[in-house]
Amino acid sequence: MTNIYETTIIGGGPAGLYAAFQAGLYAAFQAGLYGLNGQLLEGDQQFGGKVATYAERVIHDIGGMPNITGQDLIQNLTAQAAFYDTPLRTQTLVTDVKYLADQHYYQIDTPDDRYYSQTLILAMGGGVVRPKQLRLFEEQTFENVHYAPANPEDYRDQRVVLIGPGYNLMELAPHLLVTAKSVVWLTTKRPFVDEAAEKAFLTAYPQIDYYCQPFASYQQVDQQVTSITLADQTQITFDQAVVSLGYRRSLQTIDQWQLSAEQIEERPDIWVIGNQIPDRAGISLLTSAFQDGITAVTEIVAQLKPTAKTPMVTTHNPVFQADTKAYWQERLR
Ligand SMILES: Cc1cc2nc3c(=O)[nH]c(=O)nc-3n(C[C@H](O)[C@H](O)[C@H](O)COP(=O)(O)OP(=O)(O)OC[C@H]3O[C@@H](n4cnc5c(N)ncnc54)[C@H](O)[C@@H]3O)c2cc1C
Repeated sequence: MTNIYETTIIGGGPAGLYAAFQAGLYAAFQAGLYGLNGQLLEGDQQFGGKVATYAERVIHDIGGMPNITGQDLIQNLTAQAAFYDTPLRTQTLVTDVKYLADQHYYQIDTPDDRYYSQTLILAMGGGVVRPKQLRLFEEQTFENVHYAPANPEDYRDQRVVLIGPGYNLMELAPHLLVTAKSVVWLTTKRPFVDEAAEKAFLTAYPQIDYYCQPFASYQQVDQQVTSITLADQTQITFDQAVVSLGYRRSLQTIDQWQLSAEQIEERPDIWVIGNQIPDRAGISLLTSAFQDGITAVTEIVAQLKPTAKTPMVTTHNPVFQADTKAYWQERLR
């Protein structure tokens, strides 16, 4: 018999992962009575969405969490979502969705599988996020060229070159100065952030060498780039390169879906959450993405199981008993 999920979350960024946790929370709370049978489909190789692009940056504005790195946040969100048996699938790009009017459910296609679902939670942000590549390297990949902001510890005693403008590199650089042997910054654009911030940064970190020039060529040995030659023929030799040129997003796949934009807007069994919501007055933060997940799941439960009891206070949920016990055992040791 065809397995028809009650809800399918498309997108495994913060919004989708937290919605999966909420869906699992209902399933567990209502176990045996009203279990919400859901799944999450993520097109990329990893969860995290845009947060994966600033994994080493410290986030300060999540309520009750004064600081947490993007990487730790993704890890925590994934662990929370995986607390239940909700299938969380990576490398599962949704290429088509169609509403089967006769059956009253959706058909969801991915390159390898077809799924069915009564409701949809669309948490696709701006689409699958890919770092912009340095044109100089002509789409070739190299072992020592890294496109995500990186953990400074991975660069201990290495000669590091930073390539690109922007705040990601500016935040990373001071930490690299602690671990790396040397840090050189190459950019074709000045100021690399706004003028005042750049001035303050240059004054604070005179140990960093800056070059603002077009790139002429690069030299490689096996799968490693060993140096870059600048337009004025200065040759910069290094062990590791961190490139940060921003990201491209693609929602291309949604344009190719049979499910139309009007259906997404009008059908009562589709919820759009997080960054995929088109108009948020410019404010689309992690906290709002989390609330969207709660609202969507609560409304789905109300729609599919009108007699279900809402688990108003999460901490009362019996599924957390073992976890709570383990927590106090650890603290009171
Ligand atoms: C540099 C930067 C710094 C930021 N700093 C902060 C901050 O300090 N505080 C804060 O609150 N917010 C911050 N934000 C915003 C925050 O990252 C977003 O609000 C959040 O990522 C939105 O989550 P989301 O899940 O809605 O979308 P996304 O993070 O974009 O995730 C969408 C997911 O859907 C997947 N997907 C897309 N299409 C498909 C498909 N067809 N099939 C399957 N999967 C698909 C993508 O691969 C992706 O994993 C920052 C954003 C940036 C870019």
